[in-house]
Amino acid sequence: MACRPAPSPDRPPRPATPLPGPLAWVDDGLDRLRQRDLIRPRRVRSGRQGREVDLDGRRLVNFGSNDYLGYAGDVRLTKAASRAACAEGFGAGASPLVSGHGTTHAALEDAISRLLDVDAALVFPSGFAANAATIAALAGSGDLICSDARNHASIIDGCRLSRATVAIYPHRDLAALDRLLAGAGPGRRLIVSDTLFSMDGTIAPLEGLCELAARHGAMLLVDEAHATGVFGPRGAGLVEARGCADGVHVRVGTLSKALGTAGGFVAGHRLLVQWLEHAARGWIFSTAHPPAVAGAALRAIELLGEEPQRRSALLDAAAEVRERIVRQGIGADGDTTQIIPVVVGSAAAAVGLAARLSAAGLFVPAIRPPSVPEGRSLVRVSLSWLHTAADHDRLTAALGEHARAG
Ligand SMILES: *Cc1c(COP(=O)(O)O)cnc(C)c1O
Repeated sequence: MACRPAPSPDRPPRPATPLPGPLAWVDDGLDRLRQRDLIRPRRVRSGRQGREVDLDGRRLVNFGSNDYLGYAGDVRLTKAASRAACAEGFGAGASPLVSGHGTTHAALEDAISRLLDVDAALVFPSGFAANAATIAALAGSGDLICSDARNHASIIDGCRLSRATVAIYPHRDLAALDRLLAGAGPGRRLIVSDTLFSMDGTIAPLEGLCELAARHGAMLLVDEAHATGVFGPRGAGLVEARGCADGVHVRVGTLSKALGTAGGFVAGHRLLVQWLEHAARGWIFSTAHPPAVAGAALRAIELLGEEPQRRSALLDAAAEVRERIVRQGIGADGDTTQIIPVVVGSAAAAVGLAARLSAAGLFVPAIRPPSVPEGRSLVRVSLSWLHTAADHDRLTAALGEHARAG
């Protein structure tokens, strides 16, 4: 199958026009962001995600994608997508409850539930939708949701959508969570946590969360977005790696990161999944994935089984690179995972370091508020199985130079 390069946009920019009066506030809003170094430029990528990435015409070693296993640009997924599109057409044409749920979707949900060793799984248009819709379907007015302070935006929005009382506990603080649950009213209780926190590189205390959920009769939902495919003997995530499956009631994951495709999923007991089919609005009122996406995701899950060495090599490299970065005298926060945040403090400092790394040929994105709290801006190194030892050397050398420059 020949793949021609995508066309480049060649339309001349439209002349600037004044904002309509009712939108004038937008200009002020952008100005305030500019003053705080929070304007985020959008770069145009040419070609595929891979070991290197071409951004705005510059080729850089790619430490800035979630393509941890190197599948996003893998032609095996493209071919699987193409086969599904040839068989079922491109568009799904309707939501899953109407006529959008095809044989490839059904096979994908079956493959996810086998990977996680649970009854059933439900695929959502995105991981964001999976969290937002599921949390709102599990708790409501009069219920209590306890949410880790560093949870992903989609969890935060799900909590808000639910209209439940939301109690935020400090990051990974089990004693604080215990106190919140002890003071809970008679309604349902729901604990929600990322398993691998992508801005901090930290891992949730899963055993402790399970213990507290059991003791307080709370539901436990965990979001494995950055752990799916990377952790666990089968690549099912940190719940699998830690042997916590029995204590976790709702497992959310994404197909968009290590699995290189798109979409989110929720997995668990068959009746829980049936409930979501009747209550998760972001699933009910949204068109099913194109079959091509489901076909590619199904192939990616097969590859997890065929290529376990990718995740083990990635985590070995993560341990080594992290140690080398710490040895340079830079505080690489977090646990040993494929995500290594280098916290520098101000937004301007993070942007400056990212620019120096870019000058050295490395793409390591700056992460600023609102993705991280004020004063905790960082550059985030995301490792991929595709990186070579020479890439690791270049990264640690460039960060070492930064450390010596103070
Ligand atoms: C990326 C991410 C999501 C959203 O997943 P998408 O499939 O990209 O929409 C949800 N939760 C966490 C923790 C994430 O990092």
